[in-house]
Amino acid sequence: MSMYALLRNHPTPRMADIEEAFQGNLCRCTGYRPILEGYKTFTKERKCCGGKGKDNGCCMTNGVKTKGNTDEENVNRTSVLPAPLYDPDDFLPLDPTQEIIFPPELMSLCKDQSSQQLRFRGERVLWLQPASLDQLLELKTQYPNAKMVVGNTEVGIEMKFKNLLYPVILAPAYIPELNTIQHTDEGIVFGASCSLTLLGDVLKAALVKLPSYQTEVFTAVLEQLRWFAGLQIRNVAAIGGNIMTASPISDLNPVFMAAGCKLTLMSKGGERVVVMDEKFFPGYRRTILTPEEVLLCVLIPYTKKGQYFAAYKQSPRREDDISIVTSGMSVTFAEGSTVVKHLALSYGGMAATTVMAKNTASRLLGKQWGEELLQDACSSLAEEMTLHPSAPGGMVTYRRTLTLSLFYKFYLTVQQKLASEVRNIIIIFIHNTLLLVSRTV
Ligand SMILES: Cc1cc2nc3c(=O)[nH]c(=O)nc-3n(C[C@H](O)[C@H](O)[C@H](O)COP(=O)(O)OP(=O)(O)OC[C@H]3O[C@@H](n4cnc5c(N)ncnc54)[C@H](O)[C@@H]3O)c2cc1C
Repeated sequence: MSMYALLRNHPTPRMADIEEAFQGNLCRCTGYRPILEGYKTFTKERKCCGGKGKDNGCCMTNGVKTKGNTDEENVNRTSVLPAPLYDPDDFLPLDPTQEIIFPPELMSLCKDQSSQQLRFRGERVLWLQPASLDQLLELKTQYPNAKMVVGNTEVGIEMKFKNLLYPVILAPAYIPELNTIQHTDEGIVFGASCSLTLLGDVLKAALVKLPSYQTEVFTAVLEQLRWFAGLQIRNVAAIGGNIMTASPISDLNPVFMAAGCKLTLMSKGGERVVVMDEKFFPGYRRTILTPEEVLLCVLIPYTKKGQYFAAYKQSPRREDDISIVTSGMSVTFAEGSTVVKHLALSYGGMAATTVMAKNTASRLLGKQWGEELLQDACSSLAEEMTLHPSAPGGMVTYRRTLTLSLFYKFYLTVQQKLASEVRNIIIIFIHNTLLLVSRTV
């Protein structure tokens, strides 16, 4: 199914697309390798083993010289590679025009979408699907304890494995205001029901259009999404669902917290805007929303000149795994210097909620981004980011060490960015000087 879905959308996928399509397929025993081998025959990328046999330079061709490699490399590689499992030339070519058509009846139904509210009654659950924001807010007033469900990737687990029962469910997935994307002067506003795949696509498009200094937070969100569940989950899981689950190991909340994202909350009585900080999560899996309120949208801000941002996730396995410790980190320097003007360090996996290392951040204000600051930060984080020896999840020493090592990574990342900016300034200076000299001569 993963292969089919990918091929329907990209008949000639890249290797990266293939790897992404398989992220959510957890069981990879026995048949996995031949499936992947077969799949690679659809890509035009000529790397191991995207080629189509000997003549196209695939490195799986035993003992045959492969294009682009040195003789020595070929000998080393081919001597250890196993024989190919099949001959791809035997396969019938893919003809995308022969795909099953999209049902025309559904096309016409989509055009005049009904504004009717839907109700489904099961044995134990009433499922309400409002068609407008007004209907949603009205229902939330009528049923304040109703559970909202968008992608159901969290609530589904709660009902199936934790035996929780929600007698009334509100499904706001099709409400336009919860699915809109707005580009503003401050950043990009995502409706709370936008899927994580859509979130990623919009942020990637913004990276191409905007100067890199503005997109530091966007890049960090994309980095987290790279290791967030698999494609199947990201296609349905909503940004609002991740925030409102308030999981202490959410991968996005530390980023949103360190970035100071703005959340718009709405009820029949009106709306309010709050900045995501520690107070937003008053306890384990709790938020400050009142029972009548819903999360309408999230503003992910642009970064400013002199601000640097990064996010990190450490989990037992790279793909589709829950975090051990996850974090979002932001530093802003005083103009034209490397003196810390603002610092926000947010961690998941270190308490019952997403937290901020506030003491450490305030201790480092006014300091130069250098070795001394690093030493200070590490000793302060060791003091501030403590865990009870019996903390749920275990690995207490490892988790505490991670808070320091993730900061160290951030420290180096920022150093590297600063150095590359200085390099660029020098290159531009040399270029302009040479231009001036050549004109004078
Ligand atoms: C296999 C798997 C892998 C996962 N991997 C990760 C991972 O790597 N990182 C990670 O952080 N999470 C992960 N998750 C958790 C989950 O996918 C995310 O939290 C996801 O974003 C939840 O979105 P959803 O739309 O499915 O939420 P739902 O299950 O539909 O809802 C979740 C909660 O949000 C509330 N809610 C939703 N929308 C609103 C709204 N507009 N206003 C108020 N409340 C609202 C619901 O009432 C509910 O309490 C994973 C889950 C699974 C099953």
